[in-house]
Amino acid sequence: MNKGNLIVLCGPSGAGKGSVEKLFLNDPKYNFYFSISVTSREPRANEVNHQNYHFLTKKDFKEKIKNNDFLEWAKFINNYYGTPIEPIEKNLVAGKNIFLEIEIKGVLQVIKKMPEAITIFLSPPSIDDLRERLYNRNTENNKLIEKRIKQANIELRHQNIFDYVVVNNDVEESAKKIREILDKELNV
Ligand code: 5GP
Repeated sequence: MNKGNLIVLCGPSGAGKGSVEKLFLNDPKYNFYFSISVTSREPRANEVNHQNYHFLTKKDFKEKIKNNDFLEWAKFINNYYGTPIEPIEKNLVAGKNIFLEIEIKGVLQVIKKMPEAITIFLSPPSIDDLRERLYNRNTENNKLIEKRIKQANIELRHQNIFDYVVVNNDVEESAKKIREILDKELNV
């Protein structure tokens, strides 16, 4: 059986990753395993444990770092986020394509370990647009939103390390562009 491919999507929070992903992730032709990350962040009101994330305490997260349980992990603002390695290895061997949605420090680690990974950056049309979306989303307080915007500026400066950059002016248009990338890269 052929080993699967690794697809990495990165983009500032508020760039619209979730809305765009919904339009292609469940298409059976991509044969995706969507990696569920571990995080020490508190769940948002609409988030379900083991579905959106595996929610853990900082102490338990650090224990997992010590045990080498992660393909990659990073501290983002005040919390830890990481990709559990075991399901990735299992699903790659089983021929599934792996889909990761992670921030930039994690992307750099993945590229180092698996240079064959296909990396896509979903960029917001502008920082003003991003700020507006984060305030409208209303999931973080103003101080945290401004920290996320600062982080977004860092990620935007790293766009050139990605195989592909898609500017999210329109959710459907962006999903179409990502589908074209996937069709070509995964040969489907
Ligand atoms: P949020 O708190 O908005 O869910 O996520 C914050 C940032 O962490 C987003 O950019 C998201 O893509 C990223 N993220 C989610 N899971 C992981 C992970 O497992 N590893 C890394 N490095 N970043 C992650």
